[in-house]
Amino acid sequence: MKITDTKTIRICGKCGCEYHEPPATSRYDSELKLCPDCGTREALESIGVSETEQNEILKTIHRYKRSINE
Ligand SMILES: [Zn+2]
Repeated sequence: MKITDTKTIRICGKCGCEYHEPPATSRYDSELKLCPDCGTREALESIGVSETEQNEILKTIHRYKRSINE
């Protein structure tokens, strides 16, 4: 059986992009729903990862996601 809910389009409260994954909750504002990228960014930021490094990590995540979807 297929879960049809994966087609739901959500808008990120931080960067405004559209995404389909379950939302992440901002650790600064529990009402704010974030896309997976912004959720990852906040998590990395909270452990002191610089923005340059955050971008590198996200690039790696995107590359990995593409490779499992193909
Ligand atoms: Zn976002």
